[in-house]
Amino acid sequence: MKDLLSRLPAVDRLLRHPALASLPPNPSRAIVLRAAREVLEEARAAVLGAPEAVVPAIDELAVRVRARAERLARPGLRRVLNATGIVVHTNLGRSLLSERAVAALTEAARNYVTLEYDLETGLRTTRQAIVRAMLIELTGAGDALVVNNNAAAVMLALNSLADGREVIISRGELVEIGGSFRLPDVMAKSGARMVEVGTTNRTRLADYAVAVTGATGALLKVHRSNFALRGFTAEVGIAELAGLARERGIPLIHDLGSGALVDFRSLGAAAEHMPRESLASGADVVTFSGDKLLGGPQAGVIAGEAGCIRRIAANPLMRAMRVDKLILAALEATLAAYRDGAEVAARELPTLAMIGADPAALERRTRDLAGRLASATSGGARVEVVPGESEAGGGSLPGEPIRTRVVAVRAKERSPDRVQTALREGEPPVVAIIRDDAVVLDLRTVAPADDALLIALVARAVGVGDRDGDSGARGAPRAPAVRGRRR
Ligand SMILES: *Cc1c(COP(=O)(O)O)cnc(C)c1O
Repeated sequence: MKDLLSRLPAVDRLLRHPALASLPPNPSRAIVLRAAREVLEEARAAVLGAPEAVVPAIDELAVRVRARAERLARPGLRRVLNATGIVVHTNLGRSLLSERAVAALTEAARNYVTLEYDLETGLRTTRQAIVRAMLIELTGAGDALVVNNNAAAVMLALNSLADGREVIISRGELVEIGGSFRLPDVMAKSGARMVEVGTTNRTRLADYAVAVTGATGALLKVHRSNFALRGFTAEVGIAELAGLARERGIPLIHDLGSGALVDFRSLGAAAEHMPRESLASGADVVTFSGDKLLGGPQAGVIAGEAGCIRRIAANPLMRAMRVDKLILAALEATLAAYRDGAEVAARELPTLAMIGADPAALERRTRDLAGRLASATSGGARVEVVPGESEAGGGSLPGEPIRTRVVAVRAKERSPDRVQTALREGEPPVVAIIRDDAVVLDLRTVAPADDALLIALVARAVGVGDRDGDSGARGAPRAPAVRGRRR
């Protein structure tokens, strides 16, 4: 046994192996050293566990160390290609920022900025001043402020306006958004007592009216977000609810979910509630996300009647939910696109541009990519253009898929699951869904500049190309090298 173990090289010798001595600066030497120790330890354990095992040669150990070091050095947050066609994909980071927002964010990251500083007076100001005027202009609100995300916005609004009091909500709106945002739980934590009225499918104004008492702190209306109510249904609109709220002297809070600042019908999508409409119809406070249909960074906007907003701004919890300079920089630049006009926003903000993508142009691009992919896989896969459905995602426009064309890929010698897994192992990883036993590529959410990269990655994943080359067509063209490519 001792003899066997002594055949394993010492760490120093392993590190001097040509495959490891000449590595680029990343992975760092510290990581390579850690990888070498781990690989040797595992080899030692393997020998001790099975003495008849062959002791790996130093070349093999060096290959293992290199692979391990590259894996250890890889960041946790990695760029992926989103081929799902879900534009606001929460698990993939929701909205992509516009170039203008990226530039503003980078500038703020590198420099000291006027976060809470007035250059005219040299005095301290509030960071809310940075986006307040634009939010007021874009929503028609009396005042507005920004917090971490919409969950925080809802929590803060309820806590500020109805702590220890009752808040009336329809049973048809007690939604779970995903993750851990369940409306009844959020309400309980806010200190408000939830009073449910109506039924799952039908709620009338009279249901709210009889529930209002001296203990009522607010009426709450919530966008159903990720599901749609169809069939025998009834709900009360904002204008009617606002009339009741006014009559009884209590505020009406409207959680809009997505912050659609343009009419999505102009982008060829379904209608989505807009903060401006809700406030014009009489809601006292609206809340919405910054990174859903608004197309900016993660943030929550609270806009509405000036007195309500003042009470919310004075809440000590505000400090725990405030946004930093990076978010404010990106949000200001995103809002500036809307201020410059709906057409500017539709062109400049990736979320809007992807949802409103010209169907004919998208289909041409899809057919072109399918043709190139078919030749790159040279018979190793069946590649077809088929009807498909993209989604706005993020709980917006529920049940309103966007009809489109997608590429369906069926590898000759690999199951769809295997192809899907291989796509995730690519560099960069590709996230795609399976439908009808095919891996489906929806180009709506892929930047055109990444089409060639996507073709190479898919060719590898179906088993054609240079990665493991175990199956698929012989003599297939090698996929272009994609390692370490950055956008
Ligand atoms: C998404 C959503 C939320 C939570 O917003 P975040 O910005 O993700 O915190 C709350 N309410 C509704 C109706 C939503 O759609």
